[in-house]
Amino acid sequence: QKITIAIDGFSSTGKSTVAKQLAKHLGYVYVDTGAMYRAVTLFTMQQGFIDETHFDVNGLVEKLGDIHITFKFNPTLGFAEVYLNGVNVEKEIRTLEVSSYVSKVAAIPEVRYQLVKQQQQMGKDKGVVMDGRDIGTVVFPYAELKLFMTASAEKRAKRRYEELIERGDEVHYEDVLRNVQERDYIDSNREDSPLVQADDAVAIDNSDLTLEAQFTKILNLVEM
Ligand code: C5P
Repeated sequence: QKITIAIDGFSSTGKSTVAKQLAKHLGYVYVDTGAMYRAVTLFTMQQGFIDETHFDVNGLVEKLGDIHITFKFNPTLGFAEVYLNGVNVEKEIRTLEVSSYVSKVAAIPEVRYQLVKQQQQMGKDKGVVMDGRDIGTVVFPYAELKLFMTASAEKRAKRRYEELIERGDEVHYEDVLRNVQERDYIDSNREDSPLVQADDAVAIDNSDLTLEAQFTKILNLVEM
């Protein structure tokens, strides 16, 4: 019997790592909803609707119909990469620049409406692990298993910093920490579906858990 697994939580809490492990182990489909908001943000930047000094929300909302986001499984990587209007943008959407705008774009109700609809469509057949900020509360309120991941801001920023450095991005730890805290704040305080733990979600604080210990713990919850 396949189920729906919803994984929510703050930025860089290791949601996608767990989601990928689970999807692989269970033979489920993994959907990274953050990648969808990031792809919309990249589009917004490409169109010149957002920069450090301005954000043309109306311009973006008018063009929402021109944004087509798809995923294609990459067997070498073992997960699906995200495409924006047919172009693979998996790497481009992970920069600190996209991270610095994404929470503002994700706060626009029209953006959320369009992406949530698509996410519900992608997960309608069960056997899916979806991670994001509103999966257990808005996208799949009836998910059989909901996880809410937390860890200290410093631990999270350190992980994200190491990922970015490994990719070859030139970033400073302080900027990454500031970005993680800023996104937490905007995501938790926006009017449309703010980031909150669903009442029936299981909280996992992985500040001091190894990846193996965390996976074992979560697998037990799946099998309950
Ligand atoms: O998960 P990730 O860090 O890639 O998400 C990037 C941003 O996209 C989040 O900080 C949040 O602003 C937004 N997001 C969202 N709802 C989701 C997934 C991501 O608002 N379901």
